Amino acid sequence: MAYSLLFTNARQLLTVAGPPTDRPLAGEGLSSWRIIENGYLACQGERIVAVGSMGELDRARVTAETIEIDCTGRVLMPGLVECHTHLVFGANRAHEFQRKLAGESYLEILASGGGILSTVRATRAASDEELLAAALHHLAGFRRYGVTTLEAKTGYGLDFDTELRLLRVAHEAARRQPIRLVHTLLAAHVVGPEYKAAGPGAYVDFLLEQVLPAARPLAEFVDVFCEEGAFPLEESRRYLAAARQLGYKLKIHAEQLHDLGGCAMAAELGAISVDHCDYLSEADARRVAAHPRTVAVLLPLVPLFLRQEKYAPGRQLIDAGVPVAVSTDFNPGSCPSKNLWLALSVACLKMGLRPLEAIAAVTVNAAWAIDRAHEVGSLQAGKRADVLLLNVPDYTQIPYWLGENPVERVFIGGQEV
Ligand SMILES: [Zn+2]
Repeated sequence: MAYSLLFTNARQLLTVAGPPTDRPLAGEGLSSWRIIENGYLACQGERIVAVGSMGELDRARVTAETIEIDCTGRVLMPGLVECHTHLVFGANRAHEFQRKLAGESYLEILASGGGILSTVRATRAASDEELLAAALHHLAGFRRYGVTTLEAKTGYGLDFDTELRLLRVAHEAARRQPIRLVHTLLAAHVVGPEYKAAGPGAYVDFLLEQVLPAARPLAEFVDVFCEEGAFPLEESRRYLAAARQLGYKLKIHAEQLHDLGGCAMAAELGAISVDHCDYLSEADARRVAAHPRTVAVLLPLVPLFLRQEKYAPGRQLIDAGVPVAVSTDFNPGSCPSKNLWLALSVACLKMGLRPLEAIAAVTVNAAWAIDRAHEVGSLQAGKRADVLLLNVPDYTQIPYWLGENPVERVFIGGQEV
């Protein structure tokens, strides 16, 4: 059968594919995946059907119907997988950015009714149309950066109606544009304002009894913010264990500002990813490493934007055998950036990742972090044809051009977008 879409003469074709295939890349595997010099990639419909060097191309399958893209002098790589965003929210927090620059801390702003709770007020007050328009605006921005799959969390509703509304808005946004979305319920972002006096235990009871059963058809993952001022370790454990009973896959925000032990706890419950990890201890990193399918999602733009000195120990995590991914954590408070290329560079500069490791961290390992590695994240026959043509000659220039967008063309499911 003829190829429908064919990329030829790629100076470097970054497959980001290499053994093992049944779990995320870790240790030396994170940088030993295959690069093809002078490569081609062939697609049929929405799938990749062949990858190799130009000498191996089967010319018999190139016909008048084949759309051919000449990639001379350029890099071809998988579409970016953005595995941690808070996509749907009302308004923005530019005013709090001013307060931060004047010296106030994230937790001080949170304690004074700002932070997450100010976005909760704006989100509850926004109409579905306003929330959808903002989400579509942000998705268009992600698409320009070459993001082809994206995880979207709720967490700015914190009541029954708004949390479900945020999921419905995210599903509608998914229908209206080409980036594929993965849906996460983060109703346990902080304790809802109505439960401030009753406390985290009562709020977790409410979520488990009412919100999680109702949200199950709309969300694949449940996430919790395990942190001082949010949810303590034992409440987080109880919540995640019960969510798993309801059929949800698990994620956690943990060790962002303090070491409460959330990452290791969640890994032991079978979490697909443990996110932030800035304060993850060496002992707990070993406990996470004992679960080779749990991905540590590193979010380097968050400490940058919050002006914190402490970054996740990416180098040590890799050396300890923990699979790592990198994401923006796009949200209105601690990372209003959609630039995953910048996150990749800052992961190299501040967390000790090397370029090949960082590239795997925003593609195949990010796909593992949202349980989509069977579909996306690498250029391999059988996977979805989510492909980026980059305007750079080799991979070393990807993290080097700090903050630049190297994307020239984006293809999702074999279609240019
Ligand atoms: Zn987050």
